[in-house]
Order: sequence, then structure tokens, then C-alpha cells
Amino acid sequence: MARYNGPVCRLCRRAGQKLFLKGARCEGPKCAIETHHSPPGMRGSNFPQRRPSDYAMQLREKQQLRNYYGMLEKPFQRYVRRAERMSGVAGEMLLQLLERRLDNVLYRSGLATGRQQARQWITHGHLTVNGRTVDIPSYQVRIGDVIQVRESLRKTPDLEAALAAGISPPGWLTVAPEEFAITVNALPAREEIQVPVDEQIVMEFYSR
Ligand code: SF4
Repeated sequence: MARYNGPVCRLCRRAGQKLFLKGARCEGPKCAIETHHSPPGMRGSNFPQRRPSDYAMQLREKQQLRNYYGMLEKPFQRYVRRAERMSGVAGEMLLQLLERRLDNVLYRSGLATGRQQARQWITHGHLTVNGRTVDIPSYQVRIGDVIQVRESLRKTPDLEAALAAGISPPGWLTVAPEEFAITVNALPAREEIQVPVDEQIVMEFYSR
């Protein structure tokens, strides 16, 4: 799967807020949002403070949401088009589709420290869904799916540390730590989806 391979902290600095793209580092003092207070390439106090145009705001929201889920433009657009065809509020459907990605579910469950780590575990074949190996990070989970970490991954320090720290998944997921299993109880409601953007502005960008 193609993905962005550049310096991810720059994306947060450009957005002006944490997008949580680097696992445990995002919670620590080395986070670039804590150590740098200006957009990349504009270090110092004299970066411009112009009011952005409507287009610039929409573009920024879209980029933030896309980067938040670690996606490239083309696949992201496919999610937007699919959300537009679904019944319901298109922006909320878009968030729901993004949340239902297997890499996101692994991250939201608390077992993986970031989506990047989750993607690596999935592509390396360490996950099963309903007993079958799934190595596609974009796999869309459904209600009742049971995702399980295979034996091959259970002794890794990151996973042991996540379990030792205690995990608190969102209400639509249940985690059984002793079985290394995640159950999808429901599809995520809008209020259960924490994202640093306004999804309606993102949809406005694509409806131009
Ligand atoms: Fe963003 Fe995480 Fe880097 Fe902080 S450490 S700037 S939250 S990717």
C-alpha cells in the first residue's frame, strides 16, 4: 500500500496541532508541537498571520483529515465519493468509513501506539479477523467482527507495554486483553469519533 514516507511531524506543525502520527512520542516532551511553535520553514516570530481564504481553510481541513488517517489523496477521494453515495450525513459517513479501517481499529483499541505501527502489524500478517488472516490495513470492519492478534506478535514489548498500561477503547469496541482480541460491537457514532477537523468543511472542499 502506498503511503506518505516523509517527516510526519512537519504535517502536525503545518496543521498547527497534534495529529498523533508517531505513536508514543506524540504523548511525550519530544513532540515537535511542544518544541516548535511555528509552521515548518518559518521558525521565528515573523511568520505571516494573514486570514486564510475559504479555499485555503477547506484545503487545510482536508489535508489534516487525510494526514490524520495516514492516507494518500487518491484512496482518500474514494472514501469521499463512497460517503457521498451512502444514506446519512456525508461528512459523518466519511468519518465512519475511515474509523472502520482495520489499522484504525487496532489503534483505537489501544493495542497499537499509532496507525503506522498498526499498519505494519497488519501487513506482516499478525492479525486475524474472524479466524482468518487479514493483511489489508484498509479492511472495513463490520459489526460482530472479532479481530485477534496472532501468537507471533503477543510477546512484543510494545504490545506488552500497551496492555500493562491499561487500555480504554471507545464504546463501539470491546477488548479482551487475555485473548488479545477486539470485538466490534457497533459502528462508531459521530460523538465517539475524536478528530481534529470539521468534516463538513472537508466535504465542502470536494463539492467545489
Ligand atoms: Fe505530531 Fe506526534 Fe510528531 Fe507530535 S510527535 S508532532 S503529535 S507526529
